[in-house]
This record gives sequence, structure tokens and C-alpha cells, in this order.
Amino acid sequence: MARRRMVYEGKAKILYEGPEPGTLIQYFKDDATAFNAQKRQVIDGKGVLNNRISEHIMSALNGIGVPTHFIRRINMREQLIRAVEIIPIEIVVRNVAAGSLSKRLGIPEGDTLPRPIIEFYYKDDKLGDPMVTEEHILAFNWASQQDVDDMISLALRVNDFLSGLFMGVGIRLVDFKIECGRIWEGDYQRVIVADEISPDSCRLWDAKTGRKFDKDVFRRDLGNLTEAYAEVAQRLGIMPESGVVAGKGPKLVH
Ligand code: UDP
Repeated sequence: MARRRMVYEGKAKILYEGPEPGTLIQYFKDDATAFNAQKRQVIDGKGVLNNRISEHIMSALNGIGVPTHFIRRINMREQLIRAVEIIPIEIVVRNVAAGSLSKRLGIPEGDTLPRPIIEFYYKDDKLGDPMVTEEHILAFNWASQQDVDDMISLALRVNDFLSGLFMGVGIRLVDFKIECGRIWEGDYQRVIVADEISPDSCRLWDAKTGRKFDKDVFRRDLGNLTEAYAEVAQRLGIMPESGVVAGKGPKLVH
């Protein structure tokens, strides 16, 4: 059997050629990175959890008419997606002050923002993903005005949906990042949500206690990351109560 062709390897995922033209297979690794990959660790079971959580969110978005690249999950670590031309911009939506916003503007972490705030970051590891404005995006032709308008509208729809989804299970959606891509449908180009939506790319706090269920657990050494992600999966109703996630396989019994 021929080995399938790898198309791209990122920090947390690998893309392989899909079974049909216009499709790819997205494989979720267990690697965690932070601070522009200066901090790294392999965390057993993280990829399995992110695959399931991202599947849950993306298919729900598809179901309410927010277009995403997600087609279907294939197995524990892989999903079939539509191939897109990734727009090199990370779109961050914030509902509550945290992370770089708090640092930059001196707003205490946890303060509810007067309205959702959208920020753009240019995807470039060498530059450390700098924050940019719409002016930069248009001037340097990273995306068109139509792309930017579509990305903002998608980001706000995702924010509305996700805020409600998480609030329903006692989780506060503090902020999140999405990436978008272009697809061609006949003569028309369309912008859709791509990449993943998981606790790696969101800040999720327990609505009552403020406990963190996201990648800050890893960034700030706050405890067991898979336990935190499994809690999110369990509350969303997508993991069995036992939450068996570690990929170690069966133990040999003598
Ligand atoms: N984020 C992400 N990938 C990045 C940068 C940020 O998924 O490369 C997410 C992050 O998890 C958080 C939101 O975007 O949910 C805002 O992140 P922030 O700008 O506060 O940066 P950080 O504090 O994570 O460096």
C-alpha cells in the first residue's frame, strides 16, 4: 500500500492528502507549544480530545449555517476536511480581558469587556505572529476587503454560538482564535472557518470558580492539561464519564 502524502506539518497538527480532490485529512498530534514554540511538551491524549471537541463545535457550526472546513471525523485523531487556501491572519475575539490584552492595556484579567473586541494577528512564526490592523492586511494584500468583512462576520457568529454553547455547560468563553480559508465554488470564492476550535485556541473558565480549562493550564503550569480538556469534553457531552483518553494502549498482564 502506498504511504499517504503529507501536505503540511504544523506545531499541533499534520495535514495529509485526502481521499478525493479538494479534501485533506487533519491529524491532531499530542504536542503542546506556547510562547512561539519556546515551551513544548508532548501531552498524552491532547490530540484525541481536540479532535473530538473541534468536531463537536465545527459540525454544530455547519448545522447552523456557519460554513467550516469540517466534513467528518475519521478516527480518534483524524478528521476529513475541505482543502482551503488559508488566509494568513489569526482572528481573535475577546469577551473578557485576559492574556496579551490585559498585559498590553493594563486591564485586569477577568474584567468583562464592554463589547466583543476583534483583533488580527499576522501568521508568521519568525515574527512571533504580530498584531496587525485592517490597514496592514489590505495594504500588504494578505486578504481583500471582502475577505476581511467575511472573516469579521464569521468570527462574530462563531462568538455568539460558542458563548451560548459554553455558558450552557457552566463555562465562560473569555476569548478565542479562529483561522479562515478560501474555497472556490464554481466562479465564486467563499471564506469559511478552518483549522480547529478547541481548548488550545480558546480561553475557557469555569463560570462559578474561574478554574481554567484551556491551554493556559500548560502555558502557566496550572496542573493537568488533559484533565482540563476532558472536563470540557465531558461537559459538552462528548466523552464517556470515565474519560479514557491516554493513547498508551492495553497493558500486558503476566
Ligand atoms: N491564541 C491562539 N494561537 C495563537 C495566539 C493566541 O490560539 O497563536 C488564542 C489564545 O489561546 C487565546 C486568544 O487567542 O484564547 C487570545 O490570545 P492572547 O492574544 O491573549 O495571547 P496569549 O496570551 O495566548 O499569548
